Amino acid sequence: MSGSGAFAFELLATDGGARRGRVRTAHGIFETPAFMPVGTAGTVKAMTADAVRATGAEIILGNTYHLMLRPTAERVAQLGGLHTFMDWPGPILTDSGGFQVMSLSELRTLDEDGVTFRSHLDGLQIRLTPERSMEIQDLLDADITMAFDECTPFPATQEAAAQSMRLSMRWAARCRESFRARPGHGLFGIVQGGVFDDLRAESAAVLTGIGFDGYAVGGLAVGEGQDEMFRVLDVTVPLLPQDRPRYLMGVGRPLDIVGAVQRGIDMFDCVMPTRSGRTGQGFTRHGVLNIRNARHAHDARPLDADCDCPACRKHSRGYLHHLFRANEMLGPMLLTWHNLRYYQDLMAGLRAAIAAGGLEDHVAALEAAMAEGDIPQVPDPLSGKGSGP
Ligand SMILES: [Zn+2]
Repeated sequence: MSGSGAFAFELLATDGGARRGRVRTAHGIFETPAFMPVGTAGTVKAMTADAVRATGAEIILGNTYHLMLRPTAERVAQLGGLHTFMDWPGPILTDSGGFQVMSLSELRTLDEDGVTFRSHLDGLQIRLTPERSMEIQDLLDADITMAFDECTPFPATQEAAAQSMRLSMRWAARCRESFRARPGHGLFGIVQGGVFDDLRAESAAVLTGIGFDGYAVGGLAVGEGQDEMFRVLDVTVPLLPQDRPRYLMGVGRPLDIVGAVQRGIDMFDCVMPTRSGRTGQGFTRHGVLNIRNARHAHDARPLDADCDCPACRKHSRGYLHHLFRANEMLGPMLLTWHNLRYYQDLMAGLRAAIAAGGLEDHVAALEAAMAEGDIPQVPDPLSGKGSGP
């Protein structure tokens, strides 16, 4: 899948604010709007790389913070880069490490030059700067490198959000300066500014002035709520160039993704399908269900009759329920597979609807199915016959 062409975004169709596109990278193309499963530590948890491919995913996300601590970026590079290391020959995006330094590490000190922190694994003191983040993502061989920024805490005062955003903009310029250009590899800038319209506008102006291969909207889905998130997107997205991909970081729930696609976002990542899959939460066209609930114990029907994943084609709700109740590792594996398939199916449906100019009707149908709730419970044929606990 390797090629030597330039990193490029092709806009194929639009429907209202929504875009159907295609991104070309050194390790192949991916269709947008796209959902990227999160491969935290060189693995999408509970899934083989073949299984991730089988869900329809074309690009995955790797976490700089986790990989720099263990096994280290230098080790990944020595073992052939992240594509070879984890058997993912397709496109990979890596985050900058900044967000997880803030959320996972201890004893952080932030200064103009970067951040010093202690590893959550062994307490070792580590320094991360914009330049070092670019170097690490280069060693990992990311197709898409993210600028190193500070994710502004929420809630934040306008003054705190402004200070944080302006530091991130100075770091963005240093990232652009130190990023090593290679064919098919892109660097994305990240718009910050919290929920403040003028700060978002200032951030977008600085980043487009510097010039990036794509633009991310950061600092959302941190507790501000869906209405506020959509409002910030309504203000921010029109300020981003038409001819570059747009990425909403860390979002999210299916209807958050749908609303953001309608507002012109092309790329998404979230741990929700994988993390939820490990705890027994299953995503269906009728909303989220908990497979551990007793109502599923005797249910011979699949999790989602319209889904073509192995969990739904080969197994009943009753079997999946049993696996979770018995703490069998196959339970999280099957439910993660199903959830990732659900997300890829959601994105394929959105892409087809945008291409056909029918996004509005498609979204109305998605919302109606979601509002219906799960399929009605069926009675247990063994109830009262001494089978129950
Ligand atoms: Zn399924």
